[in-house]
Amino acid sequence: MDTTGAGSTEANGSTDTDRTGEGRAARRDAAVRAAVEQGLLGPGAPVVGLLDVTGIRESAAGLRAAFAEVLAPGTPVLHAFAVKATPLVPVLRLLHEAGIGAEVASPGELALARAAGVPPERIVLDSPAKTPEELREALALGVAVNADNPQELARIDALTGTAPSRSPLGIRVNPQIGGGSIEATSTATETSKFGVALRDEGAREWVVRAYLDRPWLTRLHAHTGSQGIPLSLMARGVAEAYGLAEEINARAGRRQVDTLDIGGGLPVNFGSDAVTPTYARYARLLSEVVPGLCEGRYGLVTEFGRSLLAKHGTVLARVEYAKSAGGRRVAVTHAGVQVAARTVYVPGAWPLRIAAYDAKGRPKTGPEVVQDVAGPACFSGDLLAQGRALPLLEQGDHAAALDTGAYYFAHHYTYNSLARPGIYGFAPDGSGGVAFATVREPQTPEEIVAESGGAHVTALTTLGISGRR
Ligand SMILES: *Cc1c(COP(=O)(O)O)cnc(C)c1O
Repeated sequence: MDTTGAGSTEANGSTDTDRTGEGRAARRDAAVRAAVEQGLLGPGAPVVGLLDVTGIRESAAGLRAAFAEVLAPGTPVLHAFAVKATPLVPVLRLLHEAGIGAEVASPGELALARAAGVPPERIVLDSPAKTPEELREALALGVAVNADNPQELARIDALTGTAPSRSPLGIRVNPQIGGGSIEATSTATETSKFGVALRDEGAREWVVRAYLDRPWLTRLHAHTGSQGIPLSLMARGVAEAYGLAEEINARAGRRQVDTLDIGGGLPVNFGSDAVTPTYARYARLLSEVVPGLCEGRYGLVTEFGRSLLAKHGTVLARVEYAKSAGGRRVAVTHAGVQVAARTVYVPGAWPLRIAAYDAKGRPKTGPEVVQDVAGPACFSGDLLAQGRALPLLEQGDHAAALDTGAYYFAHHYTYNSLARPGIYGFAPDGSGGVAFATVREPQTPEEIVAESGGAHVTALTTLGISGRR
């Protein structure tokens, strides 16, 4: 616990590294044991996803407390969970009840948030490719919309001209301040596809004019990136947006921009159970770098995804076979590319910790052996971990991929028609044990057939034949 030895030990969570890691690891061990004992993992279910409900609640409370600490009392705040990180209705409901709204980027994500009962005034729509239909629906509901570009703003002009909307509206800007260590999750590069590129010639003046011409534009949005962006760069992105809002308001002669949407992107530590950096550290950094953001003159919207859920998910898979090839031990498990596509395809950027459990779900001990932890898919790169030192995984044991609560098991990839695993939330049962609740049913072979054109068996063999007759 607190392995980085960072900073103070204030009880309010404002340390750089929180002290919840040990508790989380103990809860995970208990849940793995219970999942095996209670038969969640069985002959027909060789892989499951587990979600730590206690941990999710802790992160939601930590996020709210961190910003409450630095913002002037009474500042309106909406923490909107980036639904793409864990698009599961019961998770969105849990977060909603913990005071967290939803950031959505597609008709599907909006439908998930609404199915979870998140009210429109707690939803923000941010996609870079919104259709007129999506915009019309969002404006009719009163969902906040951040326009990505001038063409989208023109569509909003047309829609608000015909039907007034309660939706808070803003523009997304790209401060073009550079990327982080992972190109694919860096959104503030010079040529990023997102938002209005603020440093391009004439762009800043265009944005200011767009606001002056439209008194109903009251928000400004910037999301500088996700995993791999240093905190200092994230804070600079927020500072750029803040500076632009100040400029707009000065030119408007009033507080036209009343809310800054600072996006998400807090990186997650995939190297240990410690949560670092914490929301508290980021909020404190923002209050130092952008003090005007915290003075109560602006409302705040945040859009964290990975940092709210990643540490609370575990993929648990049975070791079907344990073999040896060329002197390398290989554990062939049921967790691979279908639940961890990023790690399998880009292992250098997305390494995952693997924990070894025995056949009864108890943590494995014993000497560490360098081994590969492979998935079930039919290509040789389907490895969760390569050359990893772990207690030797043997047939019937279990391998757990840790920190997979965001962008992993909820992001199924249908290679080899591998079934979507069941997902179960866990929490203490009140008498020393672990209780589970189904979050998502495991996919059945019948469902795979249905989703793969099963209703259209002869569609191709009969195509065009009647026309030739
Ligand atoms: C993906 C995304 C987020 C969430 O990013 P995380 O790294 O998961 O916190 C927030 N806002 C926007 C616009 C995004 O695209």
